Amino acid sequence: MKPFRMKTNYHTHTTFCDGAASPERMIEAALEKGFAALGFSTHSDIVKDLEAYKTEIRSLAAKYAGRIKVLCGVEAEYDTGFKRGDLDYVIGSTHYLTVPDGSRFAFDHTPQILMDGIRAFFGGDASAFVRAYFAQEREMIGNYDCDVIGHVDLVRKFNLKHPFFDETAPWYRAEIEKTADAIASSGKIVEVNTGAIARGWQTDAYPSAEMRALLRERGVRFILSSDAHAPKTLDFAFDRFADAEDYVTEPRPCAMRGA
Ligand SMILES: [Zn+2]
Ligand SMILES: [Zn+2]
Repeated sequence: MKPFRMKTNYHTHTTFCDGAASPERMIEAALEKGFAALGFSTHSDIVKDLEAYKTEIRSLAAKYAGRIKVLCGVEAEYDTGFKRGDLDYVIGSTHYLTVPDGSRFAFDHTPQILMDGIRAFFGGDASAFVRAYFAQEREMIGNYDCDVIGHVDLVRKFNLKHPFFDETAPWYRAEIEKTADAIASSGKIVEVNTGAIARGWQTDAYPSAEMRALLRERGVRFILSSDAHAPKTLDFAFDRFADAEDYVTEPRPCAMRGA
């Protein structure tokens, strides 16, 4: 295994949303694990107090300056129109699919909710659901002001344990190709997210090996993250994915262009 140029994780959650630990406990754990930088990405829709969150992370960034770089970001529900303001970076994520009747379908909550939703909103046609997901994802990629695309193929979450569509089907390949094209023209960064492996749903990261290959061919840049909700998963499966890509170590495309 080649050593990390710099060990980083910018997709983490704390007790400000649905994480198990305080920001400071996460920072201490990151220091023990040899991280050079740690970013917090609270959920934009369930953060308890965004201003208090920002104040806390900024003061910890100052306290730990020189030991570890601490950034204050957000994992945004793009369809709520969340604006970046003075945050250091934004991860754009699609946890809810807007369905024809206007409701938001929480397709990644449980396999049962997923199956019920496919029946209720897509007449039981799983491929129609998956295509609608990627259409919404491309809408975000093309139009939303974010830096990193979060778990781009989240639609795969339950597909290993509760198979509901064929990831080798030509129509699926066409969807991920179109999505890879959209990402390449957006200039946004894609995270290689190990969170579903940590939670036992998947054996591969988001995006899948197949989609990573498509993105790599198009020159898209990757950043490694674990979507950690607790200190112990801060670098979950990083050793498995460390070699795979030349990861960027900053979650901001503009900063990296040297602007
Ligand atoms: Zn997420
Ligand atoms: Zn997350």
